Amino acid sequence: MSIRNLLFKDVAKHSIYQQYRLFSCWSCGKDVQRLVPALFCGHCNTIQHPVKGENYFKLMGVSETYDVDENVLAKKYKELQKYLHPDKFASRAREEQEISERYSSLVNEAYKTLLEPLTRGIYMLRLRGKDIPENTEVDQQFLMEIMEKNEEVESAQSEEEIMALNEENKAKIKKLQKQVSIAFFEGDLKRVIKLLSVMKYYASIDNQIQTSIRSKGIIR
Ligand SMILES: [Zn+2]
Repeated sequence: MSIRNLLFKDVAKHSIYQQYRLFSCWSCGKDVQRLVPALFCGHCNTIQHPVKGENYFKLMGVSETYDVDENVLAKKYKELQKYLHPDKFASRAREEQEISERYSSLVNEAYKTLLEPLTRGIYMLRLRGKDIPENTEVDQQFLMEIMEKNEEVESAQSEEEIMALNEENKAKIKKLQKQVSIAFFEGDLKRVIKLLSVMKYYASIDNQIQTSIRSKGIIR
């Protein structure tokens, strides 16, 4: 079975892909009624360029919402990479190889960005022309709390201690995530910015915790 047939077989299973746009194939020039995000020309089976300027949600074929389903996102990611992986194009034309490399790294970037609640939020703000200002005012007491948490993570020795801190911190991020979702839903971008600037601190603690978990060789 050709890659294309495989793809269309998969596509048929997912109604989210059932969206058509008209393209001209860069290779054979024919019009292609392309499923979005279909990857290949239906005439000559050549890989197509990613749609220019398409946002990461559309690129990944998931609904554009802050409450994106991480399992669905992961599934889409695997599906796309299955077809786009540059190894699959080793025997194809040079230009196809280059497109697959670019497309594949774009999909990696989109996946990474949408997977984490912080980067997803920042990305959605950017789609709305907003950014988190560098010098957001932060409550002094909150900063103290964060500094103390940092020290706790640094001095945590046992697996039990670090996993308890992990759980506590993940719960904080989860709670903020819910608030960000509501703020996006209500179109309150000022509040989104405020919440995400707080989430930044917990995301950095999370990084610290995950590094510690890895260095301690804890298997979860
Ligand atoms: Zn073609």
